[in-house]
Amino acid sequence: MDQILGQVLRNAVWERLDMLADLATRADTDSLVSVARSELPRLTEGWRAMLSAHEPDERGDCPTCSTRWHRCKAPCSVWQVAHEHLVAGGLAPQQDLRRTWRRTRANVPAQTRAPKPTQAETTGRHALIPQVAAH
Ligand SMILES: [Zn+2]
Repeated sequence: MDQILGQVLRNAVWERLDMLADLATRADTDSLVSVARSELPRLTEGWRAMLSAHEPDERGDCPTCSTRWHRCKAPCSVWQVAHEHLVAGGLAPQQDLRRTWRRTRANVPAQTRAPKPTQAETTGRHALIPQVAAH
């Protein structure tokens, strides 16, 4: 059961990221501004929360990625990805990367994936209501 819930949770996050990426390419200017104002602070807070959990400890190891038997030196993979996408790659859209993500997710069972949002859900006032809440 925990595995199923974990899959549902992960799928909800993937679907949310897909929806935001689709909005970035398809929504009109007013919708984009609205989405940017509401979602950018949430995304930056999400990054901050995740990176905080991966701040190096006094030994220079990542406390989250390290285990009792294997110490993971900072910067761990989470920080490396953050730097790659937020600093080195800038904030420009990366279509090729998105396709890579989709490819790696291809083995996700279809019945656990959340339904695609309708046109009204992705462009209207209620576009940002979490899809999970509807289930
Ligand atoms: Zn880490």
